[in-house]
Amino acid sequence: MSHVYDEDREIRAFLQFDPELGRELAAVPTSSGFNQGGPLNGVPFAVKDNIAVRSFRLTCGSKLLKDLVSPYTATAVQKLLDRGAVPVGKTNLDEFGMGSSTENSGFGMTYNPWDLDRVPGGSSGGSAAAVAMGFVPFALGSDTGGSVRQPAAFCGVYGLKPTYGAVSRFGLVAYASSLEVIGIIAREPSVLREVFSTIRGQDPRDHTSIGYSEAKQTRKRSTVGVPELGSIPLREEVQSSWEKTLDGLKRIGFQLKQIELPALDYLVSAYYVIACAEASANLARFDGIRYGSRAAGFSGNPEKLVRLSRSRGLGDEVKLRILLGTYVLRSGFQDQYYLRAQRIRTAIRREFEGAFSGVDLVLMPVYPCGPFKWGSEGLDPFSQKLSDIFTCSANMAGLPALSFPASVENGLPIGMQFLGPPFAEERLLQACERYARVFPLPSCPLYRPPDSQGTRDSEGIPDPLDG
Ligand code: GLN
Repeated sequence: MSHVYDEDREIRAFLQFDPELGRELAAVPTSSGFNQGGPLNGVPFAVKDNIAVRSFRLTCGSKLLKDLVSPYTATAVQKLLDRGAVPVGKTNLDEFGMGSSTENSGFGMTYNPWDLDRVPGGSSGGSAAAVAMGFVPFALGSDTGGSVRQPAAFCGVYGLKPTYGAVSRFGLVAYASSLEVIGIIAREPSVLREVFSTIRGQDPRDHTSIGYSEAKQTRKRSTVGVPELGSIPLREEVQSSWEKTLDGLKRIGFQLKQIELPALDYLVSAYYVIACAEASANLARFDGIRYGSRAAGFSGNPEKLVRLSRSRGLGDEVKLRILLGTYVLRSGFQDQYYLRAQRIRTAIRREFEGAFSGVDLVLMPVYPCGPFKWGSEGLDPFSQKLSDIFTCSANMAGLPALSFPASVENGLPIGMQFLGPPFAEERLLQACERYARVFPLPSCPLYRPPDSQGTRDSEGIPDPLDG
């Protein structure tokens, strides 16, 4: 009998793998009642380790939270449990969701199942790799600036970032609250549809969540808006995939129309000002007193205790962002950074609104390059940030976006994404299904379908956080 964790030894998608624990949770009746027997009954899934599942750990990829066990379950996960789906484990991520490669995880990185010399993308890299490997048919992630779509693209699977507010954030550890949403990674659009229709909807425990009402398309023939990408250099592999996708869409009957999104050029800076500002506030609670490993021996000196707990427990990228966020919010300087960033945010929202009066969907690459190598041969942290340009636009505007495997270039998957107006998730799914019917893509070479029970034996699994 094979063990998922044995098979995961090379990829390191999971931080915790415990299907038994998940099965216990799935068997507990809740006040919202059981709705089992449907297509998700008994289906295993993985959860990014910044989303709470009771009795599982909730490390957020941070050494500071190594020992935190969640006392409660996120609404999105609970809705899946109510339909009989089984959370089998928690997946690796860049610490608190900050990054694009899992290299910022406090527990070591995850490797790309298509090529172990490359990153799986991030921050939900563990979720994407677990799905690409076939460990689970779907996984939950979070998308603040691309963290569901970019790893999905790097691992050759689908990644849905829903409309802001469509899925409750209750139980998602906040990084940048006004930008993020729980999203889904899967190998099949039909699975995304099933999971999305399960987890969406208003939740009294998240006041930014909204009731769902689908945005229907009125035009008969779908028109796809294609923005001018002139000022943003695409690497060869993405350029080639972009041209193939445009050509492919035309061939299967989509109408293409040029659109303008001039604010795109200012978006990355504005995104990082807003994301870091919100992060500096959201992460204040991880101080070694309310949450997090406490530096021993300083109970009489709380200031020193907090300083030491944070400087030992948090990684460099997280510290950098807390400092940046504190800097842009300091008194007297808000106009210069934060308010300017908000104005750019309004501009991109208006530009999309304008575009969607003439088109049904917008097509963009997910990332300017394909899956890059890890370590010094890869992308430095600054270039990784600049490369968030295409993904963070949907977060800044609150729009739904779906990344799909568009082509394989030099043996590696390249993803493109459709964006739509609020609540147009179904439209995005249908467009991807249409594309996949004509241009099906191979699974990653290491993919193996799950066995008849949907998952594999888990006996004797070592704890990935130890050692
Ligand atoms: N790469 C982006 C960042 O580091 C996106 C992260 C995310 O969506 N959580 O902020």
